[in-house]
Amino acid sequence: MLHRKIFFPILGGLIALIVILSVIVFHGQNNALSVVFLDVGQGDAILISQGSQQVLIDGGKDGKLLLEKLGKYIPFWDRKLETIIETHPDQDHIGGLVDVLRTYEVGSVLETKMQNNSQTFKKLEETVDQLASQHKLEKIEAKKNVVIKFSNGAILQILYPLESVTDTNSNDTNLASVVAKLTVGDSRFLFTGDFPTLQDSSLLGSGEDVSANFLKVAHHGSKYATSNEFLEKVKPTEAIISVGKNNSYGHPSPEVLQRLLQHKVKILRTDESGDVEYECQNLNSKCFLKSF
Ligand SMILES: [Zn+2]
Repeated sequence: MLHRKIFFPILGGLIALIVILSVIVFHGQNNALSVVFLDVGQGDAILISQGSQQVLIDGGKDGKLLLEKLGKYIPFWDRKLETIIETHPDQDHIGGLVDVLRTYEVGSVLETKMQNNSQTFKKLEETVDQLASQHKLEKIEAKKNVVIKFSNGAILQILYPLESVTDTNSNDTNLASVVAKLTVGDSRFLFTGDFPTLQDSSLLGSGEDVSANFLKVAHHGSKYATSNEFLEKVKPTEAIISVGKNNSYGHPSPEVLQRLLQHKVKILRTDESGDVEYECQNLNSKCFLKSF
């Protein structure tokens, strides 16, 4: 009897351990990739996950809300977030990132040289610089030709800024907003931060292929972004607007909604649908809208 009392709990424990390890190993090798436009109110936060590799583009304005959202999509045992990309140093894009850096191990932070005088930006920079000096993360300048590769073959390329930002204290931080393209087989996502129409000629004239099936609408649908010329080059079929309910900016603007409709683009909004999640099962099949 004594043996049975010890044997069965040990066997049960071993089986449970094997199951947990198998789930972790399977998760790490999973080829499927997901792109989630997190509903963080008025702001941007986009999580790209493939296996155990995650890339977070922007972090909304509220760390508590962001951590809650990340906890829904990152398994509890995975405490490392491989890459954070800051499109530009505005509160509604970086406000939640200090809490992420305190909670997760972060492999690298990509940012341009654009500055902001806000306390939020100063605190974030201090935290990033401190972790970088301790060799706990790598700080990389975000500009054209920086590429992130996923183990299933998907590629995330920075398309903009074309070179190092020189006017680093500009009042209009959107001017240097990062634009990045994710290619998963035949499916392409274009992430635009708050990229304004003022910079269209610079990006569109650079020769970069900006065409994409799925467009993250720039600047929460502001009328000063997402021009007809831009839409003609991108040719999206679906557009995602990351925007807060009843925000004081009047985003998304009726003009941009109208432009998207004229281009026959299906519109998804985080203020109406919550998180918008796409799944790409492998490089040979199209990415699709999983839930919203
Ligand atoms: Zn913004």
